[in-house]
Amino acid sequence: MSVKMRYFPGGKTKALTMSYDDGPKFDRRLIEIFNKYGIKGTFHLNSGNLTETKTEDAWNVSKEEVAELYKGHEVSVHTLTHPNPCMLSNMGVVKEIMQDKQNLEQLCGYPVRGMSYPFGAYDDDVLSILPAVGMEYSRTVNSTGRFSLPKNFLEWHPTAHHCADICEKGKEFLESNRPWDRNVMYVWGHSYEFNNDNNWELIEEFCELMSGHDNVWYATNIEIVDYVNAVRALKFTADETVVYNPSAISVWVDVDGAAVEVKGGETKKLK
Ligand SMILES: [Zn+2]
Repeated sequence: MSVKMRYFPGGKTKALTMSYDDGPKFDRRLIEIFNKYGIKGTFHLNSGNLTETKTEDAWNVSKEEVAELYKGHEVSVHTLTHPNPCMLSNMGVVKEIMQDKQNLEQLCGYPVRGMSYPFGAYDDDVLSILPAVGMEYSRTVNSTGRFSLPKNFLEWHPTAHHCADICEKGKEFLESNRPWDRNVMYVWGHSYEFNNDNNWELIEEFCELMSGHDNVWYATNIEIVDYVNAVRALKFTADETVVYNPSAISVWVDVDGAAVEVKGGETKKLK
């Protein structure tokens, strides 16, 4: 019997996640597109830069609209005021993350557990602080072109920025068949870039291309982290015939090529 850990929820073989920074007002249009095509994303906000109420000339979205606007997606930390974290004292890093986390939680009503690095900047000091301030992942700006998961979620390198050839990358992802690995496409950017570059059709075309595939799980960043952590937490007998899932969510494992669901809390005989 052979057991492999390659599936996502429902036995899907691939996952797509999107990641957008800064909370500019153009997020409103981007979310409309995501919602139209069933694409899920994470939005990394600087709560110190959000206006109190929604006005047409404010560059950022407002606090009063955050919960409703980003519903069904994930709101995540991008620090309070968008400094370069490597230029701060350790206490400054703690404050910038904690205050952002706290403000966003007050707006959204759930634990905010992830972030992206402002300017993509981080170093060993910054990395060492994150677990203590409740951060379970953080996205860099180092696009890899690959469809793999990071070893360490605190250095989550994305697949690609949504640049001109993103649809080509999307096709490559949909056509790829890598049964030896988990397949994740992670796209990042800023919604204002579509306005600056006048290319909203690019993201519309990409979302249309990627939507509605039975083997793709459309997930926020934290949903992927939670799922992968649940898979990593599975307890097997020495001969792998029985597995215990100590988490609260179902996970799917590959048993001799078939996707088998192991429910949260379940001890299951695989053979
Ligand atoms: Zn930013």
